[in-house]
Amino acid sequence: MSLSNVQITPQLVQAVRDAVDILAIAGDHTKLRRSGQRWTGLCPLHKEKSPSFSVDETQGLFYCFGCGAGGDAIKLYMLLSGDDFPAAIESLAGRYGIPLPTRVRGRGEAPERDLEAVLGAAAGYFTAQLAKSGFARGYLEKRQMPPELVQRFGLGYAPDGWRGLLEALKAQVPVGDLLAAGLVANPDGGGEPYDRFRNRLMFPIRNASGRLVGFGGRTLGDDKAKYVNTAETERFHKSSLLYNLDQAKKAIREHGKALLVEGYFDVLASVAAGVEGTVASMGTALTPEQSRLLVRYADEVVVGYDGDEAGENAARRALGLLLAEGLGVRRARFGAGHDPDSLRLEKGSEAVAAAIAEAPDLVNLEMERLIPPDTHRNPRLRAKAASAIADLLKPIRDSILRYGYGRVAADRLAVPVELLWKRLGVDRQGLAIASGAAPAAIVPEARRLVRSLEERTLQLLLSGGQGIEPGDLPPEEAFFDPLSRNIFRAFARLYTVGLASPPGAREVLSELAADGAVVDRMAQLLLENDVSPKSGELRESLRQLERRWQQQRLRDLGREIHEAQRLGDAERLTRLLGEKTTLSRQLHTPSPRQP
Ligand SMILES: [Zn+2]
Repeated sequence: MSLSNVQITPQLVQAVRDAVDILAIAGDHTKLRRSGQRWTGLCPLHKEKSPSFSVDETQGLFYCFGCGAGGDAIKLYMLLSGDDFPAAIESLAGRYGIPLPTRVRGRGEAPERDLEAVLGAAAGYFTAQLAKSGFARGYLEKRQMPPELVQRFGLGYAPDGWRGLLEALKAQVPVGDLLAAGLVANPDGGGEPYDRFRNRLMFPIRNASGRLVGFGGRTLGDDKAKYVNTAETERFHKSSLLYNLDQAKKAIREHGKALLVEGYFDVLASVAAGVEGTVASMGTALTPEQSRLLVRYADEVVVGYDGDEAGENAARRALGLLLAEGLGVRRARFGAGHDPDSLRLEKGSEAVAAAIAEAPDLVNLEMERLIPPDTHRNPRLRAKAASAIADLLKPIRDSILRYGYGRVAADRLAVPVELLWKRLGVDRQGLAIASGAAPAAIVPEARRLVRSLEERTLQLLLSGGQGIEPGDLPPEEAFFDPLSRNIFRAFARLYTVGLASPPGAREVLSELAADGAVVDRMAQLLLENDVSPKSGELRESLRQLERRWQQQRLRDLGREIHEAQRLGDAERLTRLLGEKTTLSRQLHTPSPRQP
């Protein structure tokens, strides 16, 4: 559901897709220059000094070699504005003058609610109550919250009582809307609805594009629940929101750096200490959605969680997620038991700013913790520490970075670095994860991408096809990765139903455009560095894919044959053995030499 009454129909999405000009969207945020068939410039999504952002106007796709973001114009708009999909469609439709269909109400269906207006009305009520309440303002004074920040963050107060909000808004907002907005609740046993927030300091929560989506409330009494949030609604999913991202994103993008803290007061305290790029995961452990949100704006995250045990554990969990997104991670140390808020109260803003500026690298800190001095004197401790280090380094995608940390850890452990790579399952140089991926040279500008055989094959197929006939195509099972398989399936379907030449990206995209992940992958495939295929490369890639699939099938067959023997299923056994013989023969026949 959208906050307004607009119904997002497939027709509307298509109309927006057709109308929107990707060059104009990108051009609002970065200067693009023509370079061959494409346009390039500094990436508007991450901080960089040399251009790695590329737009293909004909395909309507963009891709950045630096941060790995890619997709179509709508995706680019979403990343730049922070809007979610429905909001992006609405704004783009407005921008390109596409009429918006309004939601048609079915018989007996409740009228569409304008939740943002309901939340806005509640925010007005809460701020008015704060102005009236000496008690609540006294609390903020005690915590030394500067009045201008209280105003800027829109803080409010929900007075003690069960029906304050209900009574105040009943003339303008139906109770059903307050329920839908998560502001009031129905008692379990039935009866009158009541206010969810009572005697609490209220923090309005906005999404990345600044739209009000809910509230967090801190008790000013002795309520056991120190913090309560709006109930999860269609717009309020705590796990995919970061508090203050709407205000912080500009500073984060400018400096490439975000400060991640736990709670609302930590955000206010850090901003008061001059650190504008601060966001909070709102008291929960960082989620994968939240770390993906961060990587849109930041290159590096300073984790500013509490110094207590819970905070340290939460920081360690966050570390893995952030490393997996390719972010640098540092750890601000505020001193035992302190968070930014309590440190500011005790030692002032300068102490907070200093702790953030001096935050050491968190991977290094973890390596020191996992390998205490003298570990290498005890073989068992050493082996255990090596495993822990392997787990620590595994999420790091940049192989050169992983190599650097690995060298340091190996020194501390006093083992040859090769042994550590073995634990990690990477090759001798520690450069490539040993998976099904073909060995690929790591070019710095494409550091996040180790081009796999499947992706290279698709790239070649989609850019001309090198004279491949439909009959040359392997079965779709030869593609192990589900996204790659989807793209290949659409390609093969289009080609085998009678297109004279191999379908291009446009045709395949229009088959698959509803699937956002596929659009992203296609952008990545086609816009990443020059395709420039070698002669016969595609035929060879297809052959390798097929052999890889046959080898896997052969391994599976071994297992199935064993199973058939165990069950005494003679018929199945004969069939499987036949398949195995055919496959082995195919696999061991040398392939014809390529022209
Ligand atoms: Zn980028």
